[in-house]
Amino acid sequence: MSQEKYIDEKIQGNALLTIAKQENNKKLYIESYGCQMNVSDSEIVASILSDLGYNTTSHIEEADLVLVNTCSIREKAELTVRKRLEKFNAIKKINPTMKVGVLGCMAERLKTQFLEEEKIVDLVVGPDAYRDLPNLLEEISDGRTAINVLLSKEETYADVAPVRINSNGVSAFVSIMRGCDNMCTFCVVPFTRGRERSRDPQSIIDEIKTLQKNNYKEVTLLGQNVDSYLWYGGGLKKDFEKASTLAQTTALDFAQLLDLVAKEFPEIRLRFSTSNPQDMHLDVIHVMAKHRNICKSIHLPVQSGSTRVLELMNRKHTREEYITLIDNVRSIIPGCSISFDMIAGFCGEEEQDHQDTLSLMEYVKYDFGFMFEYSERPGTPAEKRMKDDVPPAVKKRRLSEIINLHQKHTLYRMQQYIGKTVEVLIEGDSKKSDKQWMGRTSQNSVAVFDKGDEKIGDFVNVLIENCTSATLIGKRI
Ligand code: SF4
Repeated sequence: MSQEKYIDEKIQGNALLTIAKQENNKKLYIESYGCQMNVSDSEIVASILSDLGYNTTSHIEEADLVLVNTCSIREKAELTVRKRLEKFNAIKKINPTMKVGVLGCMAERLKTQFLEEEKIVDLVVGPDAYRDLPNLLEEISDGRTAINVLLSKEETYADVAPVRINSNGVSAFVSIMRGCDNMCTFCVVPFTRGRERSRDPQSIIDEIKTLQKNNYKEVTLLGQNVDSYLWYGGGLKKDFEKASTLAQTTALDFAQLLDLVAKEFPEIRLRFSTSNPQDMHLDVIHVMAKHRNICKSIHLPVQSGSTRVLELMNRKHTREEYITLIDNVRSIIPGCSISFDMIAGFCGEEEQDHQDTLSLMEYVKYDFGFMFEYSERPGTPAEKRMKDDVPPAVKKRRLSEIINLHQKHTLYRMQQYIGKTVEVLIEGDSKKSDKQWMGRTSQNSVAVFDKGDEKIGDFVNVLIENCTSATLIGKRI
């Protein structure tokens, strides 16, 4: 080799090294709004971008790329994102090379409109298009804007190993299905997340194995409608009927998946979210009862206690069927906690419907809940065909009655634990004192107790001595 060629190669090598180093120094700042799926998706995005040399940072000022993973479920969630974009704009004035991207449901809903309305945005990417980020980043590197909002027919990210950002090192989300076929009239999700498709169970098992190796103790299986999980070799759930006889007879549903995962990982605590009452079947409840490591906690959004309003919402169950489901949960899994979502003031809701909601809450006495005033979402069947006719003051009053009643119920539920011993998985320091641990029970209640020689990730038995409506207070035994 000639001296010149050697020097030339050496320079090129150094140059490559410098480029690689620069690449590895790129900083990604990412914020997630809305549901747990968005948190999980942000971890997938961080993983895809880490292959391009991006490390995550919690300091937005030093970021080369700022991404905001958005939610469209309520108008308020979208306004929060718009406000954040204003803040990013101010930072971009100091750091003009910083690129800003919008991900998630707002990106899918608004598409190119986002680029027109928010001049700060360089990049718009829908929930199924994150694999295209390397190409999109290439496109925006020379000052253009880029967009990909294509929806997929596959689960999409089965082989991406998420980077656990903002993790407590104890609990993690594992996505098992995407999309929703239910078309509730108020909901934007079927339009922003597409049709239901499920993930290969083997890739779910592999991801949990990695988590276990890394000392994670709790996994939440995630999907917009987990009870609708159906693996028959890939593809949309609505196309199941067209699959081969072999694919249909060997298909795996959610109860079977849950059973499989619970057996495979007896040391891992399992949760799942979200369930839709119309899709939750008894076999799932029996599998929960069968395995000690499946947490005794179910999120069962009902949205209204009135059969008439449920019909307007295109929910495929009545109040009575929901009550039967709750009764079944309570008799098959005594002590199971139940949480809910409730909408106050949906189109056409009358005072009697609201009273039905309150009486349903009185019957169930929920442990936890998420309660909102109805907020009309553009493009939904409710926006197109119904009148948002409950006056704002009435919505507010109904919501505050729902919240007040729920607070009574949460306190009642927490008081039932006093004098009992519960198993707590330690997640970290208590918010109020670093001399106390904070953890969660199988029922998903927060518990605090004085520190001893335990460590984060330990399961400990705690005798509950006192409580507030949000926290159990006890001592280790
Ligand atoms: S079940 Fe209804 S509310 Fe839930 S994501 Fe699907 S359409 Fe939306």
